[in-house]
Amino acid sequence: MNRHPHDPQCIFCKIVGHEAPASVILETEDVMVFLDAHPVNKGHVLLVPKAHHADLADLPEAVAGHAGSLLPGLCRAVRKATGADGFNVVVNSGRAAGQTVDHGHWHVIPRFHDDAVKWPWPRTEYLDDDLGQLRFSIARELNLNLVED
Ligand code: 5GP
Ligand code: ZN
Repeated sequence: MNRHPHDPQCIFCKIVGHEAPASVILETEDVMVFLDAHPVNKGHVLLVPKAHHADLADLPEAVAGHAGSLLPGLCRAVRKATGADGFNVVVNSGRAAGQTVDHGHWHVIPRFHDDAVKWPWPRTEYLDDDLGQLRFSIARELNLNLVED
């Protein structure tokens, strides 16, 4: 019996359940790390919680903490093994953000000075009191009461 929330249609649940093949690098009780089948650059890995949560923002904190604790070592390993000049750690959540597999996960993408990846993203500017309002709105969602600077 699988103790993790599971979607039988989900490709990552199938990989996590050893029902579909993957180039697995690391497996713990709660997460799996495997190579992305269509890498941005070679050595691109996915850190995947075994529990099926479409939205990474719904991940139980203990699992998120465990996954987060593995990230620095994983990033160092990817960088060293690929000889990369840097790396991006990316989460795509929702179609608007480019998510294609609805089982939340982190990407660790090795980067090279001369690679073909389009980065950085375009940036916008805050106008009027947008910045202050957003500071308060986000803090309120976290149940924090901020005082004015
Ligand atoms: P997302 O677009 O949801 O942030 O990331 C999904 C990632 O999963 C993509 O980078 C895609 O290349 C990778 N992917 C999709 N299907 C498979 C698969 O069957 N096996 C592996 N190893 N990676 C996959
Ligand atoms: Zn899944």
